[in-house]
Amino acid sequence: MRKLNVPRAIAALLFIGALTMAGAAAAQCGRGVPFERWLDGVKREAAAAGISGSTIARALDGVTFDQSVVNADRRQGVFSQSFLEFSDRMVAQYRLNQGAKLLRQYSSTFARIEQRYGVPGPVIASFWGLETDFGANIGKGSTLRALASLAYDCRRPEVFRPQLLSALRIVDRGDLQPHEMIGPWAGELGQTQFLPSHYVEYGVDFDGDGRRDLLRSAPDALASTANYLAAHGWRRGEPWLEEVRVPERMPWEQADLSIMHPRSQWARWGVRRANGTPLSADGMPAALLLPMGRNGPAFLAYRNFAVYLDWNSSLVYATTAAYFATRLAGAPRVSRGRGEVRPLGFNETRELQQLLQRQGLSVGKVDGIIGEQTRAAVKAMQIRLGLAADSYPTRELLQRLR
Ligand code: CA
Repeated sequence: MRKLNVPRAIAALLFIGALTMAGAAAAQCGRGVPFERWLDGVKREAAAAGISGSTIARALDGVTFDQSVVNADRRQGVFSQSFLEFSDRMVAQYRLNQGAKLLRQYSSTFARIEQRYGVPGPVIASFWGLETDFGANIGKGSTLRALASLAYDCRRPEVFRPQLLSALRIVDRGDLQPHEMIGPWAGELGQTQFLPSHYVEYGVDFDGDGRRDLLRSAPDALASTANYLAAHGWRRGEPWLEEVRVPERMPWEQADLSIMHPRSQWARWGVRRANGTPLSADGMPAALLLPMGRNGPAFLAYRNFAVYLDWNSSLVYATTAAYFATRLAGAPRVSRGRGEVRPLGFNETRELQQLLQRQGLSVGKVDGIIGEQTRAAVKAMQIRLGLAADSYPTRELLQRLR
């Protein structure tokens, strides 16, 4: 999941940027400066930010630079699996079984959490399972060392230096000891892999032992996750995702995450529940989500789906996590759709992006990744060419543009 967490780091950066535009000085990396001297600067900044001297000493004295962390950061690959490939792998049977077992085991905790935050157990468990296999894989490296190394490196110090300071704050308020702070190389913490800044802001002591321990206490980790989701707009009592069946023909250009219609309108266009029965013909707003185009799996994405995208802006990850939650809540396995959908490969996607750009459409970066802008450009081109405008890039479209 590591490579997927970059969007969260960037989202946090924007958030922190808005809070403390103490700015340029806070983003100093270690260019031309030995690590220890650079670390002295971090210590001074932490002291000025009100973190106690004993915390700074306990957390940072003797910390050394770790080149392997920086190498891992530079090695991050491109995420280019289709929804079905990714969800087949991530929503595996063992994970469904384990999730069901834990939902039973912690049923009273989940019930109390839902009462307080309005987020249902299966939704919290979907992140718990995907991020760390329900707390089994929280990572092994020193978080402080990892964050210090990434902040010293000059690639994204503006992301990681504030995270290092947040990590010090976690120690300073007694939630974790420095040696207890272990995780993956990118500095996330705990059973649902919080960035340190999110830990500081949304961490909750739900088992009542006086500290927020998102690594060893499942109740703390689960309630913190619900707190985060609620703060990011989760709507109590509303669904998040529902598999549906789409008709052969409908106004495909309406299938767009930015377009919401009442469920009754989708019903009028012939959208049905996955089992073929009619949708509830009510006013609940929903977007039609076709992660692999009109011939692949289809979902209604309700307002709560936006919270999944906020957790991780990759559409494939967000759809998979939301789908996993529906499975934990009792939904059957997703249909394979109407026929085989063969997603474009990395190079084909890049070529398509270049061709769309040549036609005057904005695709963002030509990076081989199908993001929001590329989908919008695909849709515009499909409309221009009179094709079914489902925003999904196909070989047919690529051929036409060549
Ligand atoms: Ca606790």
